[in-house]
Amino acid sequence: MPKSPTVKSFNLSQSSSDSVSETSRQGSVGLMMNLAPAQVWRGAGVLAQSGDRLAALGTRPLVIGGDWLSQAPPDRTLKSFKRDLDTALADLADHRISYCPDCSEDSLERLRQAVAKHQADFILGVGGGKALDTAKLIAFQSDLPIVTVPTSAATCAAWTALSNVYSDQGAFLYDVPLSRCPDLLILDYDIIQTAPQRTLVAGIGDALAKWYEASVSSGASTQTLVIAAVQQARVLRDILFQKSVAALAEPGGEAWREVVDASVLLAGVIGGLGGAQCRTVAAHAVHNGLTHLPACHDRLHGEKVAYGILVQLRLEEIVQGSQLAATARQQLLTFYGELGLPRSLEDLGLAQATLADLRRAAQLACQPKSDIHHLPFAVVPEQLVAAMVSTTVAMTSQVSPGTAAKSAGNDS
Ligand SMILES: [Zn+2]
Repeated sequence: MPKSPTVKSFNLSQSSSDSVSETSRQGSVGLMMNLAPAQVWRGAGVLAQSGDRLAALGTRPLVIGGDWLSQAPPDRTLKSFKRDLDTALADLADHRISYCPDCSEDSLERLRQAVAKHQADFILGVGGGKALDTAKLIAFQSDLPIVTVPTSAATCAAWTALSNVYSDQGAFLYDVPLSRCPDLLILDYDIIQTAPQRTLVAGIGDALAKWYEASVSSGASTQTLVIAAVQQARVLRDILFQKSVAALAEPGGEAWREVVDASVLLAGVIGGLGGAQCRTVAAHAVHNGLTHLPACHDRLHGEKVAYGILVQLRLEEIVQGSQLAATARQQLLTFYGELGLPRSLEDLGLAQATLADLRRAAQLACQPKSDIHHLPFAVVPEQLVAAMVSTTVAMTSQVSPGTAAKSAGNDS
């Protein structure tokens, strides 16, 4: 007989500043690290073989995914994925439920009720970043084990101890640090390969940001594990530079698999090693601001973040006069062109955006608690708008003497 889960009530607006890690940074309590999932089970076709591993965690999983979970699959690829899922869950009393419209407070409330009604004893999240963020947060709030099954390589959400909460309309609201990484991550390359190529491209964009953000927020750290995280971010960037084009040319091939591991796993390792001290900076802040503009809602997280890296580099050029940032931006513009990552507002579907739209996004990105303030200089919305509209501008030679070397993030 499964034990009835305890459904706690939560302060959903808990922000990262309330987390254990954050308070510990100030030296008052110990540092809780969430390095990695307890187990990572990866390979081609592993989902269908994971029945025993799932049964070790419980007998009554609540399976959280997209609308496709409870409906007839719309296409052939989802059909085969659903068949594998059915095989994995054959001996368990599962209940499947959609997180849609988003990882929002209303959805979370509905899902907490579903946990209690089903008497779930573990949570299985299947899908993209938002489905996994929802599943992880529900498991955290319900004190239940959590298994993540990413269906694309678009983010490292399957790995991390963090969930983003959005409005029902998809606007970013806040993030919630979780007490641990998943108990089991199942990375099935056969499933990842059925996802649209664009999701891997977005995953590359999101993973690239690790270096450009961690080196700025933590490049000067003297702490062993933070130094290690920043260096891993550099390794991750270099792997992506070297292998992404080959990966996209041959889905399922060796380079493709290495790039999937880089985007889903190594990006997660860096988040785990660096923890709360290895923060996101402007690239993700720009993403968060852009989520409030409906015209680009159909763009993926990693696509907005990739553009956000260019904006961050442009800010370093404008505010600090950093020549290194200018060089890094030109290098990325070429790389993005090869991959199909967005280089400008136009590429993000924002060709018709008004000045008021851009100001709104910039103001949201510059809110007092925004990660943009982890930049080593102050930024105001006017500067951010100027950077957002000029990501593709050619290099200029006007660099203030003595400032270029201060840019920690752009040593490529
Ligand atoms: Zn991200």
